[in-house]
Amino acid sequence: MNKNFEVVIGLEVHVQLNTKTKIFCSCPTSFGDEPNKNTCPVCLGLPGALPVMNKEAVKKAVMLAKAIKAKINKFSTFERKNYFYPDLPKGYQISQFVVPIIEHGEIILDSGKKIGITRAHLEEDAGKNIHDGEISKVDLNRAGTPLLEIVSEPDMRSSDEAIEYLKKLHAIVKYLGISDANMQEGSFRCDANVSIRPRGQKEYGTRVELKNINSFRFIKQAIEYEVERQIEAWEEGEYETEVVQETRLFDSKTGETRSMRGKEESADYRYFPEPDLLPLEVPDEFFDIEIPELPNQKKDRYINEFKLKEYDAGVLTAEPELAAFFELMIKFGVEPQLANRWLAIELLGRLNKAGISIENSPVNAKKLALIAIREKEAVISAAGGKKVLDLLMQEDIEVDAAIEKLGLKQVSDESAIEKIVDEVLGANEDKVAEYKAGKEKLFGFFVGQVMKASRGKANPQIVNKILRSKLG
Ligand code: ADP
Ligand code: MG
Ligand code: ZN
Repeated sequence: MNKNFEVVIGLEVHVQLNTKTKIFCSCPTSFGDEPNKNTCPVCLGLPGALPVMNKEAVKKAVMLAKAIKAKINKFSTFERKNYFYPDLPKGYQISQFVVPIIEHGEIILDSGKKIGITRAHLEEDAGKNIHDGEISKVDLNRAGTPLLEIVSEPDMRSSDEAIEYLKKLHAIVKYLGISDANMQEGSFRCDANVSIRPRGQKEYGTRVELKNINSFRFIKQAIEYEVERQIEAWEEGEYETEVVQETRLFDSKTGETRSMRGKEESADYRYFPEPDLLPLEVPDEFFDIEIPELPNQKKDRYINEFKLKEYDAGVLTAEPELAAFFELMIKFGVEPQLANRWLAIELLGRLNKAGISIENSPVNAKKLALIAIREKEAVISAAGGKKVLDLLMQEDIEVDAAIEKLGLKQVSDESAIEKIVDEVLGANEDKVAEYKAGKEKLFGFFVGQVMKASRGKANPQIVNKILRSKLG
């Protein structure tokens, strides 16, 4: 980054709503079916076919509005956005242009900064072009899938703020259950608009739009590359004169962005009212829809109720699956701090390394809770618990069976430990005398000897206790 320039970022996110059927017809929205199986005259764009609005999509849009404290428009409009592309057989996309269903929302970053959401509107997705050597094929299964396009204000001032905004929006959408929000499958897609301006300048600089980047990491890379490129162009004195508003593509192999096309203006699309649909009226009962607890609320609750640190609460609530896992562990009787350690550090560490998501964890909440409980009961040590978890990651085995198999059961029986202590002290009378004469650091030596004699299985707390009482 450069201290002479300020970065300005606005994001457009397309969220695929997880309705059972498409937005204007009753074809299923399922992913991965045989090409063109889920189509009908409406989503194929055959002449004379009439669209019918899907009420579920409206409901899901309203849920998002509630979550981002946005205004829900009782009436909104549909327009045709005209452009040609092989995966868009009608030659236009039905979208909302003049009046969107949602306006004026916000997402609050951890710093307390508010990022404005200008609008969110409903529209239909296009199909997919599949390029296969010499030929190109078109699959229209996705054509007509409902999208909610969420447009932010140009309020972000760094790639970090942009990513934080995106992660928060992603979490909200998942908590609401309105989309799978799977970035690889394209059900949560982001275009980043990036410009820079000399510090202190009021007007925004010319923006460049970076299209459809499919991971948080790539979005951050693309923005950072673009900022550097624009700063260079500006410093060479070419920026305002030679660089035009354009759409650029990010290449994840080189980490660079390259020009795709000049940026079209809305006038290029010749928007006009969709004659086959009435204005969208949000049913009265939707205005009182209840939505589930949101990530920020859950995070505050974890801090207050479970006394977790802000950072830990943030990690645990970032994904609803993770929060649900944590809450199950609590339900099985694990203390919050211990559950946090076993889940956020031990299990997540192993899952990340193996590239497995929490949903596909080979170790479920019940098993992880039992490891934590066995540690708490001093049946195993913390180090032993990690070995148990390692084994559970590899094998479908019960926790107690794993403890048995690995021979990790600690000896907590006081008389058994006392016997070992007596043997150790008896064999080291000279050292006992030195200890009693004031060489206190020998205490560690005795602990070590007892642990060794028990082959690491003696409960260290009990060893300490007995040694203290014997040595005075
Ligand atoms: P379009 O469909 O032409 O991309 P939209 O209005 O849908 O236009 O989206 C514009 C997006 O670009 C918004 O997210 C807005 O915040 C952002 N934006 C507008 N001007 C700038 C700018 N100068 N720098 C960065 N982002 C900008
Ligand atoms: Mg755009
Ligand atoms: Zn259809």
